[in-house]
Formats: sequence, structure tokens, C-alpha cells
Amino acid sequence: MRALPYRGVARIALDIDSTLHHYWDLLEGIAMERYGVALPYAEQRDWGITGLEREQLIAAVEETHSDENIEGAEPYEGAVDAVRRWHGAGHWIHVTSHRREVCAPATKRWLEATGIPYHDLHCSFDKISRCVELEIDLLVDDSPVNIERAREHGMLAATISHPWNERLLDRDGVIGAPSWPELERRVDEALART
Ligand SMILES: [Mg+2]
Repeated sequence: MRALPYRGVARIALDIDSTLHHYWDLLEGIAMERYGVALPYAEQRDWGITGLEREQLIAAVEETHSDENIEGAEPYEGAVDAVRRWHGAGHWIHVTSHRREVCAPATKRWLEATGIPYHDLHCSFDKISRCVELEIDLLVDDSPVNIERAREHGMLAATISHPWNERLLDRDGVIGAPSWPELERRVDEALART
């Protein structure tokens, strides 16, 4: 982990889908409605989604990012409070989501409505390179691809545990927890050690 800008303060990047709120049910519901394909959560053990053709998956994910769906998301219990405490402690909060830039206004409205404080929002498909430019210290993201790339660049990684990222949990520099209160506690411990 690189040196923090000053003592006790970190630069934290936060993913949204499957990190700040549960996402799978929405995607699965759309896949079922559009294509009649079931995508059981517990069976999603790796990052590739093989039940859908690539074009189908792209269309389904796009639909999950309609303004209505973005603004309808329910944060995980404890997520808002954790981010508020990190923000209050002086950490710099970068919210970053793999969604198109046109989704930014609805995403901002959602962050405001849920009371998630942040300094910077990035809706784009270059998450890790942007985190590197911003000298992020800790990435909270469920994607095993992003977790591995963040580690390669010296960032700490943390995630809510999901079937698709279980194999990475508790590796060096990767914090996993089943809930936000536990994730917050473990992240705070890790940040205090740096
Ligand atoms: Mg995610």
C-alpha cells in the first residue's frame, strides 16, 4: 500500500452494484423476463455469466442501469452509515461504477437521496486506471477482476462476499465480509494498521 497523503486519511473508491446495494436480483429478474433464463445467485461462482449470450447480457445490464432502476436501489444495511463515518473521518470518497456516463445524473440523484456522501463520481469503463490516477488506497468492489487488478497496483481491496468472489477472500490485502458492519470494522482495522 502506498503512503497515505497524511496520517490516518485514506483515498477510498467505492463500487456501487453488489457493493453498496444488492444487484443480482435485478439482473436475474431482467434476464428471466427478457430471455427466460434463470441466473441463480448461489450458482454464480465466477465472473463470467454463461447463461446469456454476450449481446443479451449487455442489454440486460443496460436495463439495470435505467434511471428508474438506478434510483430504485436499496442500499445494503449499514452501507450508508459506514460511508458517512469514513467521510466524517476525513477519508476521500470516490464512487466508481462500471456504467455509461449518461447514467451519472441518476446515480448522483441516488447517492443524494440515500445520503451517501462522496467527493467524486466516475461512471465509466476504466475503473482501475482511474483509481491508479487518483492514487486510491482502498477499493471496495465485488468484482474479482477489479480486486485482482487493484492488488496488482498496490491498493488494498475489500468486498461484500458473494459466490463469485469467495476464492479471493482473505488473501493478503483482500478484506471480505458478509455484511457492511463487519466490512466497515475490518476496513477500519486495516486502515489503522497502515
Ligand atoms: Mg459491483
